[in-house]
Amino acid sequence: MKKIVLISCVSKKLDKKSTAEKIYISSLFKKNLSYAKTLAPDLILILSAKHGILRLNEEIEPYDKTLNKMDKKESEEWAESVLTQLKKIADLNNDRFIFLAGNNYRQNLLSEIKNYEIPMEGLKIGKQLKWLTDNLMENNCSKLHRLFNECKHHSIPYNEEEIPNNGIYILFEENEFAHDGKRIVRIGTHTGKDQLKSRIKQHFLSKNKDRSIFRKNIGRAILNSKKDDFLEQWEWDLTTRANKDKYSDLLDKEKQIITENKVTEYMQSKFSFAVFEVKEKDNRMLFESRIISTVSNCSECGGNENWLGNQSPKEKIRKSGLWLVNELWKQSISENELNQLTKIVKNTDY
Ligand SMILES: [Zn+2]
Repeated sequence: MKKIVLISCVSKKLDKKSTAEKIYISSLFKKNLSYAKTLAPDLILILSAKHGILRLNEEIEPYDKTLNKMDKKESEEWAESVLTQLKKIADLNNDRFIFLAGNNYRQNLLSEIKNYEIPMEGLKIGKQLKWLTDNLMENNCSKLHRLFNECKHHSIPYNEEEIPNNGIYILFEENEFAHDGKRIVRIGTHTGKDQLKSRIKQHFLSKNKDRSIFRKNIGRAILNSKKDDFLEQWEWDLTTRANKDKYSDLLDKEKQIITENKVTEYMQSKFSFAVFEVKEKDNRMLFESRIISTVSNCSECGGNENWLGNQSPKEKIRKSGLWLVNELWKQSISENELNQLTKIVKNTDY
């Protein structure tokens, strides 16, 4: 099933040969086109009174013809020819069509098309412009939140078969909201091949904060909120032989176990996550960074006043509202990247 957006042509045009994408210059057309692109469709087509259907990259001469001035017979003939063209490139019974086109353009097409949407049905031109402006203004952080809120959310215990071998996870936390949904509080991935499942285990199941900086940060915030002196020992990295020898007599092992248990309990009861497959490491790293930066750069996102992260000794966590200290406040996601990401997430089987 393809998603196809149909935009009607307009009379205001450039006065020289140009591509269909460039030749129509009215603000309604431009906004329709921008909006169409945000939908990340498989295909955008223009309904042209003269040419029937046009792809965006097709070059045409300026013309002076509109459906709004055709009589009944003429517009029925036009619709006939459009449907004939459309059938060659689309499946009228299975593809999903989104009409950004006036009634004169769509009225004789709809009976032949099974799945269609007319988001601005019934709106006069002025209202259409306002509707488009409002929808285009939605910022990319909001779009990311909508995208990931619509995904399946996993919580503990999750089904490991529903986790891909390679991908990115997006974490949500109890009582944290943003953009009319659950707020993204952490984004993570893995570098090594096929390591996503074990990465998620290291966070939620393995009681070892030295294998998960996320666990370490949750523990820091819990201990700091209680002004607990054990915070100093919690900072010790016990992964190396040398450090183990150095700290083994000093470490309050019982307190260590209690704290690990508290972290596990917090993580398992408060967090849920969405996950999607990204096979290539470079793509994982790129999208992880872009999502982190987009959310940290967003002025509408942040921890609520009772958020545990506010108790973190790490300023970056308190300031960003994210359980993260890297990739913050860098380059936000572009329209193109967001479209790519949307396709990946919507096509993921997980
Ligand atoms: Zn935001």
